Amino acid sequence: MGGTKSHEYHLVSEVGEDILAECKHCKELYNQEILQMAEENNAVKALGNRNNVSLAENQIHTCPSCGSSEFTYQNSIEVC
Ligand SMILES: [Zn+2]
Repeated sequence: MGGTKSHEYHLVSEVGEDILAECKHCKELYNQEILQMAEENNAVKALGNRNNVSLAENQIHTCPSCGSSEFTYQNSIEVC
């Protein structure tokens, strides 16, 4: 099956920075990582193709709530 995905990119990204994606339509706020994982699953199913997933603002996400693909991205530092 080869289900190993590169979750590591989050860790190797900038020092503890998260990217939040805010849906322009319903104003839902998502962690980009979560959107990316969801879409990675879809993309793998649809294309059978796993591209190198980079922290890309140009990657198109789809809002799980309203289906919009317009997001505003903002950096945020996760404080534990
Ligand atoms: Zn939305």
